[in-house]
Amino acid sequence: MADKYDVVVIGAGPAGYVCAIRAAQLGLKTVCIEKWRDKSGKGVNGGTCLNVGCIPSKALLDSSHKYWELSHSIQDHGIVPKDVELDVSAMIKRKDKIVKQLTGGIAGLFKANKVTSLFGTGKLLADRKVEYKDNDGNVSVIEADNVVIASGSQPIDIPVAPIDGEVILDSSGGLDLEEVPGRLGVIGAGVIGLELGSVWRRLGSEVILLEAMEDFLAIMDQQVARETHKIMKKQGLDIRLGCRVTGSKIKGRGKSKKVEVSYQTSDGKEATETFDKLIVCVGRRPFTEGLLAPDCGVDLDERGSIFVNEHCATNAPGVWAVGDVVRGPMLAHKGSEEGVMVAERIVGQKTQVNYDIIPNVIYTHPEVASVGLNEEQVKQSGEPYKVGVFPFVASGRALAADDSDGMVKLIAHEKTDRILGCHIVGPSAADLVQQVAIAMEFGSTAEDLGMIVFGHPTLSEAVHEAALAANGHAIHIPNKTKR
Ligand code: FAD
Ligand code: NAD
Repeated sequence: MADKYDVVVIGAGPAGYVCAIRAAQLGLKTVCIEKWRDKSGKGVNGGTCLNVGCIPSKALLDSSHKYWELSHSIQDHGIVPKDVELDVSAMIKRKDKIVKQLTGGIAGLFKANKVTSLFGTGKLLADRKVEYKDNDGNVSVIEADNVVIASGSQPIDIPVAPIDGEVILDSSGGLDLEEVPGRLGVIGAGVIGLELGSVWRRLGSEVILLEAMEDFLAIMDQQVARETHKIMKKQGLDIRLGCRVTGSKIKGRGKSKKVEVSYQTSDGKEATETFDKLIVCVGRRPFTEGLLAPDCGVDLDERGSIFVNEHCATNAPGVWAVGDVVRGPMLAHKGSEEGVMVAERIVGQKTQVNYDIIPNVIYTHPEVASVGLNEEQVKQSGEPYKVGVFPFVASGRALAADDSDGMVKLIAHEKTDRILGCHIVGPSAADLVQQVAIAMEFGSTAEDLGMIVFGHPTLSEAVHEAALAANGHAIHIPNKTKR
């Protein structure tokens, strides 16, 4: 006889495991099926985020930043390090240990919340039934009142640079290099390109990023993007915009294997570069392979995402979908919030996700973070607006930390003064932008934020000053507009 549950979740990434935990907290009999296996072949929870995404990339970003500081900027503090050595394999092992700790932590959370955890593959059948194939190939059917699909995404591959796992790598391969490549090519100067490019640049690689678009970080606020470009260039990232890769050829054998990449520049010129390693990071696409039986009733949209409404309900009654597999930004926290919303809606609560206020961060150094609308979007909306900018070079705390590149830019409605967005490149930008996200969630105006007492000396004061600047009241920089 088929097992019966209140909720079956397919996928234990940040969207799925959070949904499963919340559902169980609400008293629902919940099972979560996950097909990921670790390097030893053992089933493991956590999805892209914990295994090959957010967490391992941040572990390497932090390690490589410490190395960069020791080998570049620490002398300015009167500290002269001697015999600094790099042990890449120890760095990778540390990263793997953190991943193991966190994925193991999910197993603990599942147990504590009484979520049944199954390793293997789930497939949605008709009428809220799920076919479950365990990792030994045994097949059974699970029945449920609700099914939540949280199957995530996978890297987009391009035929001109097929991944071989040796010289041409996807982002997962880029997190597992055994030694520092002399010359590293990166196709795509987006989030992953900048994060992984930064890791290997700091550890000593010559890094060239080939980006198809003419504009750097085209979907971001362009003033902040230009500032970021300048900072990244200063760090030695060679970012070539308007470059379309047309082919790649593997050359040499064994350890001396390299890849020759040909590309066309925006003025139509052909060029080539030879790299020791090439990382392809040109975006990710929703993952639904082998997941949906033809009669399951779930529709896909034109981009291959599972079609859902604003509450993550699919077209099939009782079937929901959350995270990277549905529309919206492919971010762990967006998926987790959707997971919570679905669990709470299953028990009849009216939970919603505020898609207008989802922070977005690139974890380079300094970090690049944004929330809400950027200036180009506000301009396009036709609404009158004002801007307050505060550079970190005027922040005492940033100068004391020798970390004063970048700025805070806050955009508010000209008439209502409501905060519309905030864009930061600078130290701790991720945490700073979260302060504005909280303010926006409470409907704050720039004046409200300007009236809050900020501790001194803190980096947060830059947010305070940007809010004041929007109304011409900044204290620590000359105001462009007097109001
Ligand atoms: P996933 O994490 O992809 O999880 C989906 C899970 O479903 C997988 O474990 C998969 O094995 C499983 N699955 C799929 N099909 C089936 C099936 N049929 N049966 C059983 N299981 C199945 N986002 C951030 O917010 N911040 C960051 O700093 C960040 N850094 C990143 C760095 C890198 C290098 C990458 C690649 C991504 C990063 N992301 C980051 C994006 C983030 O990882 C994703 O947005 C997030 O993991 C999506 O969560 P999800 O649960 O929807 O999908
Ligand atoms: P991305 O969309 O951020 O960047 C891809 C870049 O590749 C774009 O700039 C695009 O113009 C360029 N590109 C596309 N095709 C190209 C081609 N043929 N040649 C040259 N350039 C090309 O995607 P990503 O960096 O692969 O990351 C995927 C997703 O993972 C992100 O969109 C994000 O949702 C998520 N992610 C988030 C974080 C974070 O939150 N810190 C970190 C990593 C990944």
